[in-house]
Amino acid sequence: MKMKNQPQTVAFKPGERNIFFHILTICNLRCRHCYINPEQHGDHLLLTLSEIENWLRALRGDGPANVVFLGGEPTLHPDLPAAIRAAKKLNYAVTIDSNGYMLNHFLKRVHPQEVDFLSFSIDGPTPAVNDAIRGRDSFQVATENLKKAVGLGFNVSVIYTASRANIAHLPDMIPLLTDLKVKRFFIQVIGLRGKSAQAAHNDTLQVSREEWLAVVPYAAAKAAQAGIHVTYPKVFLEPEETFVCAGLVADNYFVFPNGRVYRCPLCEDHPINSYHLAAGSLSPASGLREDAFFRLNIPEGCVMNKLLQPDTIEYDVSGQALRRISCCLLKQEIRPE
Ligand code: SF4
Ligand code: SF4
Repeated sequence: MKMKNQPQTVAFKPGERNIFFHILTICNLRCRHCYINPEQHGDHLLLTLSEIENWLRALRGDGPANVVFLGGEPTLHPDLPAAIRAAKKLNYAVTIDSNGYMLNHFLKRVHPQEVDFLSFSIDGPTPAVNDAIRGRDSFQVATENLKKAVGLGFNVSVIYTASRANIAHLPDMIPLLTDLKVKRFFIQVIGLRGKSAQAAHNDTLQVSREEWLAVVPYAAAKAAQAGIHVTYPKVFLEPEETFVCAGLVADNYFVFPNGRVYRCPLCEDHPINSYHLAAGSLSPASGLREDAFFRLNIPEGCVMNKLLQPDTIEYDVSGQALRRISCCLLKQEIRPE
């Protein structure tokens, strides 16, 4: 396919802080690939509004900052509108990552200008594909609420988690997104965390390099041609590209309601968090911490990927890695044509 706009790698922005703030671990859905791990992230936890406000202050920093409210399902939190206002007062750019149920009358309680992006997770272009992963009726509910949100003037994006269960259907998302008037599309790769890390799911959900490369760049180009700004993980580095660990150069914080704060999402299933949040202050965690791994320089690229997802790495007969795996946070984007 001839493309006017080529994919660009999005460099990490060291001066910009990104807070991925799980304000609760409660959810109304039971997705097949849910990344919440109750043992590690807390079971049925919900932060109070004053905890959310204190933690937003503790994490703010001095430069530009973005907060993504997630869960569980963030709209299940009755104080989400107040949390958004607290974040705005602190000059955060605010995104909500929702499963699309828009609970607690969220769309009526928040003005579109209070939210920079409202993101809907949809994992298939049809109810048959999406609902097999996210649960019965979830496609219909999410797409109906998405239409309402667009009609009200929210900036809306869609997140698609690509796994073996749905990757073949990714290109068919583009006509749906066009029809729904969605301007930003985030493609994610399934990670071995939470439910998808459980042995029963490993073989069926994780995609191979061949499957990824056969579908994702094509679907992303198709989205850009349709006027959609698309972002997807880099995953495989070319020989001339430099490997960089976001844990060393970027300013990302993945926050859970049990107080654990990670710098790397791949580490979230393990008690190796960098920090702990309690009583409104951020303290370094004790014991083995994820940053001990960030500086290890290995031919396979990302250390945590090698430790946790070694099946993604291919070797030649002499045992040399055929290619490096990028940081999971390194993205490519194609802006609309
Ligand atoms: S993936 Fe998200 S929407 Fe699905 S069950 Fe988990 S928290 Fe809920
Ligand atoms: S995914 Fe790998 S490279 Fe990225 S922050 Fe984690 S350890 Fe570092």
